[in-house]
Amino acid sequence: MSLPTIVVVGRPNVGKSTLFNRIIGEQAAIVEDRPGVTRDRKELEAEWLGTKFLLVDTGGWLPSGSDLDEKVSRQVEAAVQNADVVLFVVDASVGLTDDDTQIAQWLRRIKSPVLVVANKADNDRRENDRWEFLALGMGEPVPVSALHGRRAGDLLDEVCALLPQRDGDLQPDPDDIPVDEEGEKLWKAGDTAPPRVAIVGRPNVGKSTLFNRLVGEDRSVVHDMAGTTRDAIDTLVDTPDGPIVFVDTAGMRRRSRIDDSAEYYSLVRALRAIDDSDIALLVIDATEGVTAQDQRLAERVDASGCPIVVMLNKWELIEDPEQRLEIENEVHRKLYFVGDAPILKISALTGKGVHKLRPVLQESIEQYHRRVPTRDVNRVISDAQQRQPAGHGLRVLYALQGATDPPTFTLFVNRELPQTYMRYLERSIREAFEFGSTPIKLRVRKRSE
Ligand code: GDP
Ligand code: GDP
Repeated sequence: MSLPTIVVVGRPNVGKSTLFNRIIGEQAAIVEDRPGVTRDRKELEAEWLGTKFLLVDTGGWLPSGSDLDEKVSRQVEAAVQNADVVLFVVDASVGLTDDDTQIAQWLRRIKSPVLVVANKADNDRRENDRWEFLALGMGEPVPVSALHGRRAGDLLDEVCALLPQRDGDLQPDPDDIPVDEEGEKLWKAGDTAPPRVAIVGRPNVGKSTLFNRLVGEDRSVVHDMAGTTRDAIDTLVDTPDGPIVFVDTAGMRRRSRIDDSAEYYSLVRALRAIDDSDIALLVIDATEGVTAQDQRLAERVDASGCPIVVMLNKWELIEDPEQRLEIENEVHRKLYFVGDAPILKISALTGKGVHKLRPVLQESIEQYHRRVPTRDVNRVISDAQQRQPAGHGLRVLYALQGATDPPTFTLFVNRELPQTYMRYLERSIREAFEFGSTPIKLRVRKRSE
C-alpha cells in the first residue's frame, strides 16, 4: 500500500531543506530511509502522531531565474502531481517575490491540496508578515520557523488533517489481486481498487436472487477473493464498466444461508460488510413495505457514511397502481434520512428493472470518489457566506477537500460555527458539486485570524 505523499516545493533559499530536516529530525520519527532516485531527490518515510507519510524534498529542482515553465523539471512536475499535500514554502522575512507568484500560478494547475508555509516566522512580528502571502490566492499561510522549530507541530497537525484517510485493510495486498485465466492480474497494484458493493437487507427480501441476477447477467469473469472478515468470500465480477467487488453478506450466497439463517447473525454480518463497502444496495421487500428492521438497517448504513441505493424488490407482485404509489410514499416517509438515495423498483426474480442499477451505481461511486479543486470549494463557501453570513463575526477563512470516500471537507474557521450554519454550508457544497445521495463530511479547524 502506498503511503500518502507530502511534497515540499518553493524557490531556493526559502528554507525547504531546513523544513524537511525539521520535520524528519525532530518532530517525526523516521520510519525508513529511502535512497533517492536521483542524487538531489530526498524522500523519507516519517510518522506524526500515528500517521505515516512519505516526505519528498524538491530542493534544488527549481532554480531562480527567468521563465518558470522551463525550470519546472519533469521530476518536480511528477512529484507534485502525485502529492497528497503540497507544502509551498515561502520566506516571511523576505516577503512575496515574483518567483513565488510564478510557482503559485503553476501550482494552481494541479489537483492536490496546497498549503502555503510562511517559513522564517521566527517571532510574532514575522508571523504577522505572513498575511502578505494571501495575495497568492492559495489560502491562509501557515507560519513556521523551520530553523527554530517554532510552530512545527502545528504545521504537522494541519498537514495530517489534509491527508486522505486511507484504510489500510481495504486495499488488498498486491499479492492478493486475483488473476485471470492467463495469469494476468485483474487490476494493477496502485490502481484504484474496484468499487465494493454490499447487498444488504432482511432475510428473504431477495438478496441472493438479486446477487445471482447481477452476477449472472454480465458474467464474464467471476472470482472468489478472500473477504475482509474471516469466513467471508467476496466476489469479483468483471463487467464491461470495469471490475466490481460484491462484498459477502449473510444470505447473499447459498453457502452462507445454511448456517447464517438466524436473523441476528445475518444482521451482524451485513453491518460488517457495510463498513467494507463503497456503496450499499438496501433490498426491501415491496410486498411487506418498510419494516422496523429495514429502518434500523438503513439508519446504520447511513451512519457509516456509505451511500445507499434502495432496491424495492418483488415489484412485479404489486399490480395495483394505488398500492404502488402507497409503497413509494412509505419508502420516502420511513427512510427520509437517506436523503436523495436513488430508489429502484425491480424484480430480482424476472430481472425487470435490474439494468437501471448500473448507471446509478456508476454515478454514486463517482460521487463518492469525487475530488473538488480547492479554489472551487473556496468559491462556493465564500459565495454561501456572502449570501447568508453566519453573523457575530464568525467566518470560514479557507476550505478544502481533504479526503474522498466519502468526500470530506475541512473548513478553517475563526470560531466554532453553529450546527445550523454547518448544515447550510454542507447543503451549499452538496448542491454546487452535485453530490447526490453521497454522504459528505465536514471537519472544522479553528484558526486565529
Ligand atoms: P532551500 O534552498 O529552500 O532548501 O533553503 P535552505 O533550507 O537551504 O535554507 C536557506 C537559508 O535559510 C539557510 O541559511 C537556513 O539556515 C535559513 N533558514 C531556513 N529556515 C529558517 C528559519 O525558519 N528562520 C531563519 N531565520 N532562517 C532560516
Ligand atoms: P435473501 O434471503 O434475501 O437472500 O432472499 P432470497 O434471494 O433467497 O429470496 C427469498 C425468496 O424471495 C425466494 O423464494 C425468491 O425466489 C423470492 N424472490 C426474490 N426476488 C423476488 C422477486 O423479485 N419477485 C418475487 N416474486 N419473488 C422474489
